[in-house]
Amino acid sequence: MRFSPVRISRRSLLGRIAAGAAVTAVAPSLAQGSLPADAARTLESAGANQHGGLVQLNRNENAYGPSEKAIATMREAAKVAGCYPQARSEDLRIKIASFHGVQPAQVVLGCGSSEILRMAVDAFVGPGKRIVAALPTYELVGQYARRARAEVVSVLLSGNYSHDLHAMRARCDLATGLVYICNPNNPTGSLTPRQDLEAFLRMLPAGIHVLIDEAYHHYVGQSSDYVSFIDRPVDDGRVIVARSFSKIYGLAGMRVGYVIAAPQVASLLASHRLPENVNVVAALAAIAALDDAEHVRTCARLNADDRQEFFNQASARMARTIDSHTNFVMVNTERPSVEVIEHFKRNDVLVAQPYAPLDKHIRVSLGAPAAMREFWRVWDLMPAHKMSM
Ligand code: PLP
Repeated sequence: MRFSPVRISRRSLLGRIAAGAAVTAVAPSLAQGSLPADAARTLESAGANQHGGLVQLNRNENAYGPSEKAIATMREAAKVAGCYPQARSEDLRIKIASFHGVQPAQVVLGCGSSEILRMAVDAFVGPGKRIVAALPTYELVGQYARRARAEVVSVLLSGNYSHDLHAMRARCDLATGLVYICNPNNPTGSLTPRQDLEAFLRMLPAGIHVLIDEAYHHYVGQSSDYVSFIDRPVDDGRVIVARSFSKIYGLAGMRVGYVIAAPQVASLLASHRLPENVNVVAALAAIAALDDAEHVRTCARLNADDRQEFFNQASARMARTIDSHTNFVMVNTERPSVEVIEHFKRNDVLVAQPYAPLDKHIRVSLGAPAAMREFWRVWDLMPAHKMSM
């Protein structure tokens, strides 16, 4: 099926974004004038979520980019690009340890948290071993595990899109080396309640490590269901927590992530990392980003507004969404997602690939308001869907 294919040139797309064209009736709260300087700067450049004439709402990047302090640090850091990064990345490791009140021996840096996921797979999963993960969830860990010739056991999320921890526990056996819990979960944006996770850990056989991926931690607002396992650790050496600088800190292009784990586990993970895996500019930028709490607060607040606006726009169109605690939302399009994704692509808007078995949902990263106006304009090009009663 094809929905009115409208192709717009890069120039006209930029014009539309810059002019804030196609502002819909339910979007007055996010007029550019009401945004803080940081956000307005990004919009002025018309560069948010935009590259090569495409509106990119497919990678869950921070629509507002890095903080001014991190940008200034990166400019300055270019001067030490001639040095190997070890001293600076060690500074970052120590900084992260003191930021979270843990020992430096508990911190391992990664080239993005992607490398942390790979380290965990390499350390605990291999041929003949199993990893238990949700379906759908962030797929990279499963890809690494398959490449390591391990079995990936996928357990459907429960009806409210939390991890089905009872079913996951039931699938853990002697061959299981790792359980992967993405919380909040990508692609659904949903939470798995903290108390259920603690109960799961109590039931889990000894020797199975649990990788909790908190890449989207900062986007969770007030929720009685959520407490980070770094902020409130449990006395369980099997728990490994991964964090990323790619999301709220806006440093996806710099590739920095880290893990907090028990010292022995951290040392095992570190044995699987590439040497000098965090470059000198990235290390210094991450230190500056950690120091800029105001930017984190601003981005979280803007994202909460953007998310609410997405819900409003979806509900004005009778489209159902999954309650999101992240910087992306899954919306039910009531038609095959592959066709909808293709429709957006033909109109120069990229959304994420389909996530089986949610074959009518698309995952949309929250862009800055202008990019989202373009998203809804393209949505409205789809023929209206008759809701089934
Ligand atoms: N974990 C989750 C849940 C993600 O969604 C992503 C990226 O989107 C990553 C980890 C990897 O992020 P990065 O390698 O950029 O830190």
